[in-house]
Amino acid sequence: MSRQVVKASAPGRINLIGEHIDYNDGWVLPFAIKYRTYVEIARRSDPIISIESQEQDQKIEIPLTEIGPEKRRNDWSDYVAGTIWSLGVDTLLGENDQGGENGLDIKIRSEVPLGAGLSSSAALECAVALALNQLFSLKLSLIELARLTQRAENLYVGVPTGIMDQSISLMAHQGSALLIDCLDLSTRHIPFDLERAGLELLIIDTNVHHHLTDGGYGERRRDCEMALAQLGFSSMRQLDINQLELFKNSLSNTFYIRLRHVLSEISRVHQSVDALKAGDFKRVGQLIYQSHSSLRDDYQVSSPELDLAVELAIAEGALGARMVGGGFGGSAIALIDIEKIQGLKSKIESNFAENNFIAPRFFTSKPSRGAALEI
Ligand code: ADP
Ligand code: MG
Repeated sequence: MSRQVVKASAPGRINLIGEHIDYNDGWVLPFAIKYRTYVEIARRSDPIISIESQEQDQKIEIPLTEIGPEKRRNDWSDYVAGTIWSLGVDTLLGENDQGGENGLDIKIRSEVPLGAGLSSSAALECAVALALNQLFSLKLSLIELARLTQRAENLYVGVPTGIMDQSISLMAHQGSALLIDCLDLSTRHIPFDLERAGLELLIIDTNVHHHLTDGGYGERRRDCEMALAQLGFSSMRQLDINQLELFKNSLSNTFYIRLRHVLSEISRVHQSVDALKAGDFKRVGQLIYQSHSSLRDDYQVSSPELDLAVELAIAEGALGARMVGGGFGGSAIALIDIEKIQGLKSKIESNFAENNFIAPRFFTSKPSRGAALEI
């Protein structure tokens, strides 16, 4: 009998707007990119989890008994082992229910650039989770898979990410952005038809790669929690940008501007949804650019490379541009006419060289489909 191989894939993502908002109980508006991570998973007869990644050019074999957050290896295999653990698959395998088939062979290849802020980590977790859901008939919903893969990244890998990346990777539709309420994970598909508007989203990877565990990200999360607590609130939902002025004198300037970013950004997400529904890309561009200013000045998570890329994009006629992701490096996006892309790329390349910045990489993408089983 030939053994069953389940194949699944899941995309990376760009967040159009709503940055540093998922862990702040707000709404975000990401879309899936065309770059995907592909996995193939089959059972094997011995109690070994074998994980092979083309990108890492490495095969790691972990005994089944060595799966668990306290036994993490602190390398890339944690994303996969964490997903296995979070879905309870290691326990199922340990129960040895299928004639001694208590190991797994996992093969991975990915088109999503690693560490570029395009969420290769969620693409990997979600592809693995979808394949395991099928292989073990777990019947978990996409929302449950999003929560479980987030749990893998938080508790196993040890990175305190919000729920956005996994949600969009699992639930995206082609041609749409996804409005996600990060509190209850309710979603609405919002038409985002770049093609019809003659536009493209240029992704500018500064090649300055960050780690969410580096500190700045956790610090911003703590700032927000402490600022809210000082005001006697437990969630950003209890406040809006118009009320914030009333509390200005009760907060340090740092806490005030942190909250001003979060609350103004949530408002920009809703305004962007309205603009997209009206097909008003010019307005979407303005909101994206305002988002960048807020991330740079109030949340203070930008970098000289990101600021330069954004200003050059605006100077070259982009409707809007902003840094995306956690910040301090990673990527920026520019919403721009297709025919202006080449000019902008050249401008960015020459200006980065003049400033002795690392050479950037470019990608383009249109809103693409979410995770899927592959036949
Ligand atoms: P991002 O999610 O923005 O790409 P992260 O730092 O969150 O950046 O995740 C990148 C990490 O995820 C990599 O360093 C690696 O450990 C892991 N990873 C992602 N894709 C793969 C892959 N195809 N093979 C192995 N590890 C991967
Ligand atoms: Mg990531």
